[in-house]
Amino acid sequence: MKPVVRFAPSPTGRLHIGNLRPALLNWLYALKHDGTFILRYDDTDLARSTQEYADGIATDLAWIGIHPHKVFKQSERFALYDAACDKLRKDGRLYACYETADELDRRRKRQQARGLPPIYDRAALKLTDAEKAAFEAEGRKPHWRFLLDAKTVQWDDMVRGPSHIDCASLSDPVLIREDGAYLYTLPSVVDDIEMGVTDVIRGEDHVTNTAVQIQIIEALGGKVPRFGHHNLLTDASGQGLSKRLGHLSLAGLRDDGIEPMAVASLAVLVGSSEAVRPIPAMQELAVIVDLDRLSRAPAKFEVSELEHLNAKLLHATAYADVAPRLAAMDVGGGEAFWLAVRGNCTRLKDAAIWWPVVNGAVEPVIEDHVFTDTARSVLPPAPWDEATWGVWTKAVKDKTGASGKALFMPLRLALTGLEHGPELKALLPLIGPERTVKRLKGEIA
Ligand code: GLU
Repeated sequence: MKPVVRFAPSPTGRLHIGNLRPALLNWLYALKHDGTFILRYDDTDLARSTQEYADGIATDLAWIGIHPHKVFKQSERFALYDAACDKLRKDGRLYACYETADELDRRRKRQQARGLPPIYDRAALKLTDAEKAAFEAEGRKPHWRFLLDAKTVQWDDMVRGPSHIDCASLSDPVLIREDGAYLYTLPSVVDDIEMGVTDVIRGEDHVTNTAVQIQIIEALGGKVPRFGHHNLLTDASGQGLSKRLGHLSLAGLRDDGIEPMAVASLAVLVGSSEAVRPIPAMQELAVIVDLDRLSRAPAKFEVSELEHLNAKLLHATAYADVAPRLAAMDVGGGEAFWLAVRGNCTRLKDAAIWWPVVNGAVEPVIEDHVFTDTARSVLPPAPWDEATWGVWTKAVKDKTGASGKALFMPLRLALTGLEHGPELKALLPLIGPERTVKRLKGEIA
């Protein structure tokens, strides 16, 4: 059976490299197994979810190269959640509670003072109809809890292997708040069942939810999917990545000129047994990434790694893959220019720094005019190609006796006006005889 996976962000912020991790692990899994990838907006929190964030997430996913097969919004599916709750109520698995947050807090403190675990004591189960009516008359609205079975739930985690949680140690989870809003737990389960999700791949911060959700799935008569909980991405200091971490937001990285596959490679290879390296294509990454090769420890990364990966990725990028973007930057020179300068690009926009070096105008830097005049006098005849540089510099060396840096640096400074840059062997034919002659004379060209 082909897998059905889902990425279920709450549209209450933009994507960053941390919450991109589950998106990618699901996408790569779907790619590898020819499955279906669902993008589901967990937007039941109507106060905090916005369409703007949902659109932003879609933009970020498209940029990184994730193209969902189906898109759903939970806010359009309340009827399904209502029906599921009716069933649970009828079966005695969903019960009304009237405690205020303050009352619950005091109760927890008393339990802790007596050395007991702060688990909800199910007092609401003992309420009579008259007591409930009295609360309602007081203006209290119920919140609703799922009645957990006091059993150990087991599953074979796709990342962590055999896993279990003793639900007797958990409070009955609140599924519906007193204002009637659904918390994340139930809609997620209802949708996973209804959408035929076969594999739930998400962060290990959801491990406890999984035990609860497996019980809810069973109570609803659904088929329990496989679960995989990946380690979470942290910065170098071990801090988790919060949603509002601007500079690591996908939009921020895109604006900073970081390539999507550099971000994607880092987001999934860090914290795995694979070396972190830039993988140029999603399909290739899908072959490499394996859930059971993720580490159990947090996936720590240095922000500077991204820049490094970006440079490495560009150094190996074919001209065809960047040609339209170079054209949009008014950088010409075709493939030969790109191949000459890509090794000097940390970001694609760096190509624009080198374009004037080839296309003019360069202000030559000449300290020793006798040397550059001599060099000019032994320039090989056109047409020039990549062998020209070697022929020319040998002639200059023979004529002047200069070698090493004393030979190359004055030529580089005269031809480019800069001390560092792409290999002159590749640049020289692009600069061409006419400009070369002018620059060697010290003219701006
Ligand atoms: N909206 C939840 C989150 O962003 C989804 C978790 C899940 O994948 O079930 O954490």
